Amino acid sequence: GEKAMPTGEQEKPAALFKGLTHPDRIYWPEEGVTKLGLAEYYAEMWDYLAPFVTGRALALLRCPEGINGERFFQKHKWRGMNAAIQSVKDPGEPDEEPLLSIRDVKGIVALAQSAALEIHPWGSTLKAVERPDMLILDLDPGEGVAWTEVIEGATFARRLLEEAGLAAYVKTSGGKGLHVVAPLKPKADWDAVKAYTKSVADRMADEQPDRYVSTITKAKRVGKIFVDYLRNQRGMTAVAPYSPRARPGAPVSMPVFWEELSPAVGPQHFTLMNAVARMDALSEDPWKDFWEKARPLP
Ligand code: ATP
Ligand code: MN
Ligand code: MN
Repeated sequence: GEKAMPTGEQEKPAALFKGLTHPDRIYWPEEGVTKLGLAEYYAEMWDYLAPFVTGRALALLRCPEGINGERFFQKHKWRGMNAAIQSVKDPGEPDEEPLLSIRDVKGIVALAQSAALEIHPWGSTLKAVERPDMLILDLDPGEGVAWTEVIEGATFARRLLEEAGLAAYVKTSGGKGLHVVAPLKPKADWDAVKAYTKSVADRMADEQPDRYVSTITKAKRVGKIFVDYLRNQRGMTAVAPYSPRARPGAPVSMPVFWEELSPAVGPQHFTLMNAVARMDALSEDPWKDFWEKARPLP
């Protein structure tokens, strides 16, 4: 049926949202997106979101007063946490504080209730926590980098990954850059995946030093793109595909077809207001075969 923008004004599909307290609390004031609006967005997008946010440890960016209030990354359980959110032992570090996870749509509605405006999953599942099932190259443009150059950077990363036999997918970050993501057979460990992504970042910086840097100390270089491979470490995260961002404009980190990248489709092009309609209008998911295309780390 027809999908309205998730401001919380459409009819409530039943029981799923009835546990929300203060459903009219404003999270994105400029756009008028409420807690209920976020919960509806998460529920509408659940089929797309689920593979990336279930069975994984999550870091939550919580903003109880909305995007202009206090914010904090929550990685462990808190007092009063909703029962639809699980606190699970880290299988590899059982003595450490348990991690957060969800398993169903009730869980993600509970994240909206908890003011989790951004969802940041690990790159491995809890079932195989030491073996990443995806890698990410996070392209971070410095001051003065044109959007077309960011697209060229993502395309360069794609070529290197594909030449090595991996499948490469791209999403907007909802911030300033692009994320190039490759699904992996969960075999190699974190150190190997980090070393591999570092080698890709180094190669980009070696081949086009005027364009790319791969060292954190040069990360803020004006006019250059930092190829951030440091997401690929145990306990580190990147924002989930389809996750909103706690920023003005209510942008979403949106998976796109490579051919969609253009000057007209910038990093904040997709938002809480247009994402559901976009997915409804597409005849296929840009990341449709993501998991089938998983290959072992080269
Ligand atoms: P942009 O395109 O603007 O760079 P981004 O989401 O890629 O957006 P980065 O600053 O590159 O933002 O950070 C990449 C990822 O690192 C984030 O999505 C998040 O998962 C993680 N991260 C960044 N800062 C923190 C933090 N303070 N605590 C926990 N995780 C963080
Ligand atoms: Mn980034
Ligand atoms: Mn980064």
